[in-house]
Amino acid sequence: MRDNPSSSSVADSGAGRPFFGRSSDALPVAVAGDGCDLIAADGTRVLDASGGAAVSCLGHSDAAVRAAMHAQIDALAYAHTSFFATEPALELARRLTALAPTGIDHLYPVSGGSEAIEAALKLARQYHVDRGQPQRRHVIARTQSYHGNTLGALATGGSPARRAPFAPLLIDVAHIAPCHAYRHATPGETPDAYGRRAAGALEREIERLGGDTVMAFVAETVVGATLGAVPPAPGYLARIREICDRHGVLLILDEVMCGMGRCGTLFACTAEGVAPDIVTVAKGLGAGYAPIGAMLCSGAVHDAVSRDGAFQHGHTYHGHPLAAAAANAVLTRLTDDGLVARCAAMGDVLDAALHHHLGAHPAVGDIRGRGLFRGVELVADRATKAPLDPARRTHARVKAAAFARGVACYPGGGTVDGTAGDHVLLAPPFIVTEAQCDRIAATLAAAIDDALAA
Ligand code: PLP
Repeated sequence: MRDNPSSSSVADSGAGRPFFGRSSDALPVAVAGDGCDLIAADGTRVLDASGGAAVSCLGHSDAAVRAAMHAQIDALAYAHTSFFATEPALELARRLTALAPTGIDHLYPVSGGSEAIEAALKLARQYHVDRGQPQRRHVIARTQSYHGNTLGALATGGSPARRAPFAPLLIDVAHIAPCHAYRHATPGETPDAYGRRAAGALEREIERLGGDTVMAFVAETVVGATLGAVPPAPGYLARIREICDRHGVLLILDEVMCGMGRCGTLFACTAEGVAPDIVTVAKGLGAGYAPIGAMLCSGAVHDAVSRDGAFQHGHTYHGHPLAAAAANAVLTRLTDDGLVARCAAMGDVLDAALHHHLGAHPAVGDIRGRGLFRGVELVADRATKAPLDPARRTHARVKAAAFARGVACYPGGGTVDGTAGDHVLLAPPFIVTEAQCDRIAATLAAAIDDALAA
């Protein structure tokens, strides 16, 4: 038995409280949401400029989603998927596949982004096994990527710091360089030429591993947490698609963060004119109202694993009716109520505000992104693009300074090579106003000054 802890030692160690990575963090307690604001127990309001981690696309008090969830919980909370289908899950599959990229016509509901990636990896593997190609076991992904924290998703991600402690537990995944023109295009190289060159790295890696041993290539359509809203160069994904097709490799696009309208189109890859074999979504699908994600796949992939059996996978809570009801209501808000279109329009407003307040800032090297998915990369020198001293953890200082000024944003470090580099990711709700966009950009400028001065 544990020693009887005094109440003060409980408070000091954080025992008995949930721990979110850092158990000693004295986080404010959020008690309410109102539009784009989160409200703490002491009444402080914080403007949510990142939707948490690009989650809260509808803000924090959407009446339609709340009503749909109330109605669902009053009708049916849960029915296990081995016994019953439920109307909300059926509706979600019907509606989201109808809106999905060409050829994507099946949906596998899960409870979040990492689960969606795990399902995608296993489906890709089973697809090849069931088609008589069990030697296809290699996954290729990209450095400076994030695909989740469960072991398969963590192995797929290319963030060295996140992987390091767990390295012995991770499946072997090969990583090629990301497509990031600001850092990797050579002087004078056109965006198209760079896009083609960057995609060529995939073909070389497939050939190095042995053409018919590769099962899938995984990439975020627009890179989020690890690079800060980096869209692909023109033609990059189309070339990636060709290379995958040529080698029988499945293309898995991870749109957990950049999908569900965040970049101004419901699926980010439609802006590239590219359809994957498998696409994952989460975050904006539940908009923060419910934990839900989905893996969607093509008929060809689905049919290959269903011919003589079924996809060998499952979770107790997948297809949860309450989560699916929330997602259906979110989808209605995004599409019928025009919020994806609003995201595209307000993305231009936020971009203009960022250029106005930060465009000439000596520590701002790049402002980028699509829709309401924007990134600001910080540098020590704009001309050479030299990163700031990583030991200063400027990204964390910016987060704290912005929060102290009443704005929540989502910075990250290791932007350049996994260790050096700082960026700030912005992903406000699609209901954000022009005035709020201006406040976000102005506050970020002040927070960067605070962080550099500290
Ligand atoms: N994939 C991407 C691109 C993500 O950004 C994330 C989370 O940030 C995940 C997967 C994992 O999602 P979750 O945190 O819901 O498991």
